[in-house]
Amino acid sequence: MLQAVCPRHGKKVDDGVMKVLLVGRIDNGQLDQTSVQSFYQLGQESSVVDLFITLESDWSFSLPQSVLDGLCSVLVGEVAEVGAVSPEDLSSAIEGLAKEYDLVVAGKGHLMDQVMARCAASLGREPLLGITKIIDKNTLQYQAYNNTILKTVYSEAVPKIITIAPGVGVVDGAGDLADVRAENPKIKLIARTGRAGLATIKASHGNGSGDDNFAGAQIIIGCGAGVDSTASLGLAKELAKVLGAALGASKMTVDAGYLPASALIGQSGKAVSPKVYLALGVSGSMHHLGAVQGADIIIAVNMDSEAPIIKMSDYSLIGDVSEIVPKLTALLKDWDNHHGY
Ligand SMILES: Cc1cc2nc3c(=O)[nH]c(=O)nc-3n(C[C@H](O)[C@H](O)[C@H](O)COP(=O)(O)OP(=O)(O)OC[C@H]3O[C@@H](n4cnc5c(N)ncnc54)[C@H](O)[C@@H]3O)c2cc1C
Repeated sequence: MLQAVCPRHGKKVDDGVMKVLLVGRIDNGQLDQTSVQSFYQLGQESSVVDLFITLESDWSFSLPQSVLDGLCSVLVGEVAEVGAVSPEDLSSAIEGLAKEYDLVVAGKGHLMDQVMARCAASLGREPLLGITKIIDKNTLQYQAYNNTILKTVYSEAVPKIITIAPGVGVVDGAGDLADVRAENPKIKLIARTGRAGLATIKASHGNGSGDDNFAGAQIIIGCGAGVDSTASLGLAKELAKVLGAALGASKMTVDAGYLPASALIGQSGKAVSPKVYLALGVSGSMHHLGAVQGADIIIAVNMDSEAPIIKMSDYSLIGDVSEIVPKLTALLKDWDNHHGY
């Protein structure tokens, strides 16, 4: 299954690899030391790690290069209102993400213990606070009775909500720092959080303009060289509107001037991981495909049944974009009319 592969590392998540959401804190523009230590404690060889942080307006921060290299994605909750995010906001943002992971991890501390305890309670889990060692995704250790006894917890509950004790996984210095900005392909805006109570994780819907930054888009329509006229672009835009999809592009479509560079998906553009990636007239070059492997479902519309993307797709429709797309749009409109969406 495509969705079981980390697009960056190619690790198969099924093969005993832990899917981890690391809830990090940004302090003075840097990932704080407890978050960095927690990262090193995870044993990155056997885990796929996404970092979740909240940022205010300026989407930039720094973290050790070795941490950045080991992350699959950085999920950013944008703080809608400047000021500290409350534990309530943070825990409800994390709850929305937690079901995708085996472990939800934060560095132990007053705020994170509160956040994780709240989050665990809402998910009906027992919070495991102050873990000292992660042996595997079901086996964790912590020190009890004033650090005199090492206890082992075994649990198959998913996700486990844990904090990691300070001082565990201490790193020799922070290493080289990497500055991360919004344009980094790993960065995804997934939520707006803040005291105004906007903490719910919602997929942002596209507007079919091709100017979306894809952040949080559940459906992305990728337009390749098969969308080779203003007329077929219009068809793709109409379909995007009906689906509430964001519009993306291959390099051919950007170079031809049909869509802006901000819509480029691929090695030179953005990596995306929507629920559905619908590729219209995209051949599936490695420069493009590597950036869409995070999609849960890939659907391809292509005239060529031998195109590489067909082999990567969960579903394919063999035929001309200009014939298939209007039919899809009409079917969806019909569906909407009958089901009242
Ligand atoms: C260093 C480097 C970086 C690159 N970075 C990127 C990048 O970030 N993103 C990117 O996309 N590319 C990138 N490329 C370019 C990449 O190698 C491919 O050339 C490009 O992805 C091909 O785009 P395409 O699939 O739209 O076009 P094509 O490869 O030309 O494929 C068009 C497809 O559409 C089908 N088709 C044609 N007409 C129709 C129709 N009417 N109906 C249905 N199907 C039709 C064809 O059968 C074909 O499969 C990069 C290349 C290099 C060298």
